[in-house]
Amino acid sequence: MKITAIKVYQVDLPLVEGRYSWSEGKFVEVFDSTVVEIFTDDGHVGYGEVCPLGPFYLPAFGDGARAGIGELAPTLLGQNPTAIGPMNQLMDRALLGHPYVKSAIDMACWDLLGKVTGKSVCDLMGGKFGDAVALYRAISQRPADEMAQNVAEHRADGYTKFQLKVGGRPGEDIDRIHAAANVLTDGEVLVADANTGWRVDDAVRVVNAVRDVDVYIEQPCRSYEHCLTIRRRTSLPFILDENIDGIDALLRGHHDGAMDAINLKISKVGGLTKARQIRDLCVTLNIPMTIEDSWGGDIITAAIAHLAHSTPESLRFSATDFNSYVSVKNATGAPQRKDGHMVASDSPGLGIAPNMHALGKPVAEYTG
Ligand code: MG
Repeated sequence: MKITAIKVYQVDLPLVEGRYSWSEGKFVEVFDSTVVEIFTDDGHVGYGEVCPLGPFYLPAFGDGARAGIGELAPTLLGQNPTAIGPMNQLMDRALLGHPYVKSAIDMACWDLLGKVTGKSVCDLMGGKFGDAVALYRAISQRPADEMAQNVAEHRADGYTKFQLKVGGRPGEDIDRIHAAANVLTDGEVLVADANTGWRVDDAVRVVNAVRDVDVYIEQPCRSYEHCLTIRRRTSLPFILDENIDGIDALLRGHHDGAMDAINLKISKVGGLTKARQIRDLCVTLNIPMTIEDSWGGDIITAAIAHLAHSTPESLRFSATDFNSYVSVKNATGAPQRKDGHMVASDSPGLGIAPNMHALGKPVAEYTG
C-alpha cells in the first residue's frame, strides 16, 4: 500500500460566540484550519486536520502548516501510510521540529490504518474505557460577571468542568476566579488557565488571593522555571500545558513534581502517535490529562475522542469538543456533544467523512 497523492485544503472556522479571547489580549474570531487528504494505490483515502490557535499561541500558524506539508510531501509519496512508526521517523528526518506540521499527516495515517484493518482508531489505541468522555468548556476572557454568567449558560449544555481564560491583569483575574467559583455547584471543576500570561509576581498575587478557592491553576507563566516557582509557592492543584511539548518535558516535570496534571494537545506534540506515547506514559506515571488539541473542527474533534476514549477514566481529567465551538462542519460522523460528553465512533478509522463543500478546492496537490 502506497501513498499516491496528498491534497491540502484550507478551511475557515468561524467561532459561534464571535470571539475567543485569552491571555495578554490575544483573540481569534475565525480559525485557520488545514485538512489533508491522503490517497493510496488501493483506493483508500485518509483525513487529518491541524488548526493552530492563531499564530501567537504556540509556534504554529496556518500557512506554516501548509508550507510544511508541502516540504514533507515528496518524502511521503510512495510510502506505506499504515506503517505509522516508519512514517513518523521519515517525517522527523525530513523536517526537524515543526511538530504541528506532522500532526495532520499522522492523523490521516491512523485514519487509513483503521480503514484498512476495519477498526476504529480508538480500538487501535487500546479500546474504550467507559461509555463516554466528559468535556470541559473554555470560558473566553471577559469581565468577571460575564464569565460567571457563561459558566451558568454552559452548564445548561451538560458541562461540569469549566476553564476560565485568565492571564490578564491580576486584580481582574482574581475577580474572575472568585465570580466563577461563586456560581459553581457540587461536583463541578474549575480551572484558571493563564496561558503563560502572568509574570511571576502577578501569579503570586493571584494564587495568594484565591488560596481558599477550589480551583486548579494552569500554566501561569511562560517559562517552565517560572511555573515551577509558582508551583512551589501555592497549595492549589497545578496543571502544565504549553511547557509540556514532549516526553522530555513530561519526564522533567514529573521528576520535579512540577504539576498534578497535564494538558495534552495532539498537534503540540506532533500527532496522534506521539500523543498516544505521552498518554501511555502518563497512565503509567498516574498523571491525569486533559486531552485535546490547539483548536480544530470535526476531524480534530474525532481524533480527540479516539485518544480520550481509549484513556482510563481515572486519568481522563477532561477533553474538548471543538466542533461545538465553530460554525462550519468540515466533516460528518464526528462525535456530537450530548449532556457534556462525547463518544468515539466505532466506525473504521476516525469514523468521519469529509464535507467537500466546506473544504472547497484544494490549495495544494502533490502526486508521485
Ligand atoms: Mg491550557
